[in-house]
Amino acid sequence: MSQEEPQSQQSSTNGATRPSVTQHHHPRQRSIDSGTHFTFCGGFITVGPDWKALLVSTTLILAPSAVYLALVAPYLGEHSSWAFVVASALLIFFTLSMLAATSLRDPGFIPRSPPDIDVERGLKPPTRDYIVHDYTVTTKYCPTCNHYRPPRCSHCAVCDNCVDKFDHHCPWVGTCIGKRNYKHFLLFIFSTAILCCWVTATCVYQLSLAADDRDGDWGQAVGDYPASLVLAIYCLVALCFVAGLSGLHSYLVCSNQTTYEHFRRSRWSSGNPYAQGVLKNCGEVFCQAVPPRHTALGVRQREKDANKPPPPLEEDIEQGGGNGIGGSGRNSGGSVNDDDERAEVEMTERNGDGGHI
Ligand SMILES: [Zn+2]
Ligand SMILES: [Zn+2]
Repeated sequence: MSQEEPQSQQSSTNGATRPSVTQHHHPRQRSIDSGTHFTFCGGFITVGPDWKALLVSTTLILAPSAVYLALVAPYLGEHSSWAFVVASALLIFFTLSMLAATSLRDPGFIPRSPPDIDVERGLKPPTRDYIVHDYTVTTKYCPTCNHYRPPRCSHCAVCDNCVDKFDHHCPWVGTCIGKRNYKHFLLFIFSTAILCCWVTATCVYQLSLAADDRDGDWGQAVGDYPASLVLAIYCLVALCFVAGLSGLHSYLVCSNQTTYEHFRRSRWSSGNPYAQGVLKNCGEVFCQAVPPRHTALGVRQREKDANKPPPPLEEDIEQGGGNGIGGSGRNSGGSVNDDDERAEVEMTERNGDGGHI
């Protein structure tokens, strides 16, 4: 886990964003939990705004899997080994479980706080610096969620929430990929790639067995079992997509980058502050327990704590608990800019959305 520490008073201002911030002289009322996602069972289940896309993705896996288990697996069980049926069922179940674990889990949404009037009036700086492995990481105050973003946090324009260790918004699973579901997302794409290879190989094997029964006539075998050929082609096409994705994310895990950081790596002029070697980078993703959800109650408590000396330090950050929310920024010469362009977009939008009270 990174050691991150808020630094002392930040005197520098971002010329591109501060004027927009200081134009808001009135606090606005926002629901502390608002966003475009849906929560059930007290937040145990969180569904992203693209839940219809999730249904499509589930169908794209479930429908061919059902055909495979109904037509191909039993043939292999009878003519070869029933282990094919068991292995196929387990692999399909694991893949769908990882899809559910990714898409139905809170990815790390950070609940909104009441507006910080001091920031909106320009009495507090719009940025905050953190020390991460001897690097200084600068983050911005989120004008939509009303808190200073922790390092690696970005505001998702689709979910309309800040997401802890934001990776990307995945339309296929219908929600963001962040600190709390990245591991499950990886297991989902890896298992999908393995499933595609498995189905393709076993379908071809089934056709070869059928052809052997027909004196080597593959045409007749395909004619008798057309579903096997269709499934093999379908999975080959899907494999092209998920294999590329698996390769990209394998590289990102080994180098400790999020997808978002990777495509904006020009910000890291002095190196990746999070990289700790391949083993530690992989361990950070696969060997750490899923952190607890950020709750609105936690936000309120941190705001209370922020008003008391001493200010929140590493403990909040280590727990991924919306560090620095409601507190004042402190100063140092920032070397890594961890903010994002969306902040400017949001500020521009806020100027015209008439949300003042
Ligand atoms: Zn935000
Ligand atoms: Zn999102």
